[in-house]
Amino acid sequence: MQKRLHNKIALITGGSRGIGAAIARRLAQEGCHIAISFVASKDKALSLVKELEKEGVQAIALQADQADPLQVKSLVEKVGKHFGRIDILVNNAGIFEGGSIDDPNLDVLGISRLLAVNVGGVFAATHAAVFFMKEGGRIITIGSINGERITASGGADYAATKAALVGYTHGWARDLGPKNITVNLVQPGPIDTDMNPDNTDFAEMVKKNVALGRYGKPEEIASAVAFLASGEASYITGATLTVDGGFLA
Ligand code: NDP
Repeated sequence: MQKRLHNKIALITGGSRGIGAAIARRLAQEGCHIAISFVASKDKALSLVKELEKEGVQAIALQADQADPLQVKSLVEKVGKHFGRIDILVNNAGIFEGGSIDDPNLDVLGISRLLAVNVGGVFAATHAAVFFMKEGGRIITIGSINGERITASGGADYAATKAALVGYTHGWARDLGPKNITVNLVQPGPIDTDMNPDNTDFAEMVKKNVALGRYGKPEEIASAVAFLASGEASYITGATLTVDGGFLA
């Protein structure tokens, strides 16, 4: 594989499983040194580190709860000090929590945590990371097609968190453009991970609305992230790249 990211340093939040792990593998294959974070899956994170090292790059895994801005700040500072800089921040960690607004049993604390992880964590990581970034830096956030459209009841809260990332992407692109740091959003459609497994009645219903008629693979998000991280995307900032098999088409 072409090593478009030779010797770059990337921090991927939530890199222990799913889309984040696929992004870590892809960036490592492109020659990037990798830091991943996790909250619970220590064994998976450490096993991925060993796998990444086989690509001939340095890799570390650190525990940090994205819901806690102080832990996120400390995570970024540890990575920045360990490698001396951060070239690429991938804001990937995210959770789903939902329910209909007219449900009297809606888990209000759960929704607060959703907002803290999916929005607060992204804000905290980005704010801390820019101080370790030089010209040419990349901030890539994983949003969702639900930030644009939602086709079933019960997902409003998740959709709201992902819509917030659209606003941040636009605003941060303006803030950081003068430093030649680009800020972009990847909006996946349905991707086969623990969060959204491709073996449920829900998945069968969703697939009927996907132009390509199938769920995506985490690797198909990772390739979009690798492109945005590379020099080939040098004039792309403030953009949203939808990778959804035509779900929104
Ligand atoms: P998974 O549930 O498979 O993996 C989630 C990852 O995020 C894990 O590495 C997990 O770490 C980490 N994580 C979760 N909560 C926290 C936390 N509080 N602090 C730190 N890390 C945390 O999800 P996906 O891979 O499917 O999702 C990745 C991103 O893609 C999310 O932002 C999601 O919203 C988005 N997305 C996913 C879609 C899909 O269909 N799968 C569609 C659209 C967007 P640990 O293993 O330690 O729990």
